[in-house]
Amino acid sequence: MEKRSPWWVLAGLVAGVGTGLGLRAWQPNAGPFLQTWVEPWGELFLRLLFLLVIPVLLTALPLAIASAGSLLRLGRTALSAFALALLLGASSVLVALALVNVTHPGKSMAGKVPPAEEIALGQGSGFLAQAVNLIPGNPFGLLAGWLGWESSAKMMLAILGLAVGLGLMMLLLPESRGKGIRQAWEGTFAICMRFIAGLIRWAPGAVFCLTCLSFFRTGPELLGYLGTFGLTVLLALALQGFGVYPVLLRVLGKYDLGKFWRGIREPLSTAFATASSNATLPVTLRAAEGPLGLRPEISRFVLTAGASTNQNGTALYEGVTVIFLAQAAGVDLSLTQQAVVAGYALIASMGTAGVPGGTLPMIAAVLASLGVNPDNTGVGIALILGVDRFLDMCRTSINVTGDLVIAVVADRWAGGKS
Ligand code: ASP
Repeated sequence: MEKRSPWWVLAGLVAGVGTGLGLRAWQPNAGPFLQTWVEPWGELFLRLLFLLVIPVLLTALPLAIASAGSLLRLGRTALSAFALALLLGASSVLVALALVNVTHPGKSMAGKVPPAEEIALGQGSGFLAQAVNLIPGNPFGLLAGWLGWESSAKMMLAILGLAVGLGLMMLLLPESRGKGIRQAWEGTFAICMRFIAGLIRWAPGAVFCLTCLSFFRTGPELLGYLGTFGLTVLLALALQGFGVYPVLLRVLGKYDLGKFWRGIREPLSTAFATASSNATLPVTLRAAEGPLGLRPEISRFVLTAGASTNQNGTALYEGVTVIFLAQAAGVDLSLTQQAVVAGYALIASMGTAGVPGGTLPMIAAVLASLGVNPDNTGVGIALILGVDRFLDMCRTSINVTGDLVIAVVADRWAGGKS
């Protein structure tokens, strides 16, 4: 079962897409059934994954830092991961800008109205949905709410900071005194991974439920509606994922591409289904230490930090969307302004929370800083909301893949074997 599971997850994904689209076309009244019997199972999986993220972050990152052995080695790993993240981020924004200047998606939007095609499922009220609601949906948001902070992205960064601080203390503590705490942390991390190993058996079903719902709600028409915009985003993501990543994996990582794509089936399907890099993090760590065979001290560090700060798909999406919305609002950005957008998109993507729709507040902020107020133009962010979920599923897959590419290359640079 353990060995077959990645294929089953992909099968769940394909079946979910097909069933969602099929029900939408032939049984559009299936909403209440899906809401009562299908949605809670997908939601339960998502919430359990999310529940694990904080303990995973607080254990994996400190352990990775502590196992670097010295500040010098830690600095080397951090620097190479950061340089790679910048390289991948910059390439994704460049791909986005190049494409958007060729396709001019905003210009074709004149006179179009947002779609009303999304089938709303509303708030689940059945027994199952009530039970699932007992588990918090976004623990970062919950903690942020308790502390009166306005965003869960800030909470996430605070937890990352805490984990780095803890790791540095463990690293600097003399071996004899730090041994106990490391063992306790290893034990907690092992419990999280054990939990994931159990949860992942249920992934094919959960991935089926989540994708079936997404495709039932939005359908394929939405891509047609946004036409050039949706296609530009998808093409740019594909170029990054199937063009830039393989080159880096081969040239810098000297890694076997077949092994890579086979090894990331689980995190890739989970990222697509959940649209959240943070929720996918435990599954990503599992793939890195399992089928990809990367050393934990490198992969744990790169992946835990990368899940919230290295988001190539998001950077690319922010670049395309900001220029698209500006074009649709009749604002033609000069090349210099586009270069500023590229810089903003890169920085904003690093601060984007790895949760579904995490990028939307960032896009609003970037637009505002360019003097484009999307709400006054009649073609605001609302315009992209209909397709955002589907594009989110795609960009999150690229985000997670990008983290794994960096982990592979950093592992190689630190002397690992492929
Ligand atoms: N959903 C994305 C992620 O978790 C963030 C975003 O682009 O909205 O990686």
